Amino acid sequence: MADVTIHVCQCPNCRSGQEHGDRKRHHQINLLLSRLDEQQRRWFAALESQKLGYGGDTVLALITGLHVDTIRRGREELDADLAGRPADRVRNPGAGRPPGKKKSRRPLRI
Ligand SMILES: [Zn+2]
Repeated sequence: MADVTIHVCQCPNCRSGQEHGDRKRHHQINLLLSRLDEQQRRWFAALESQKLGYGGDTVLALITGLHVDTIRRGREELDADLAGRPADRVRNPGAGRPPGKKKSRRPLRI
């Protein structure tokens, strides 16, 4: 998690190596995702998927490298108004570091 790796789009158009209208956009989606945390990545991919409509999850899975189930889960969470999703931390309470420590933002290691 320390290094920021940017996923390379695996959609057929990008894989073909040919220039196409969405190449830059696909790269920028992955660029943005590389700076987001886990749940934010899921929700962003879910939003993009919704724009595409039917089959969007599959396309977004190719572009982002996220699993289709992950994207579907993101859509479900958005549909539920992110109910139960913590607003200020990546993981649900109980997961991750034990409580008690002062919550400070981890410095981004680049
Ligand atoms: Zn692509």
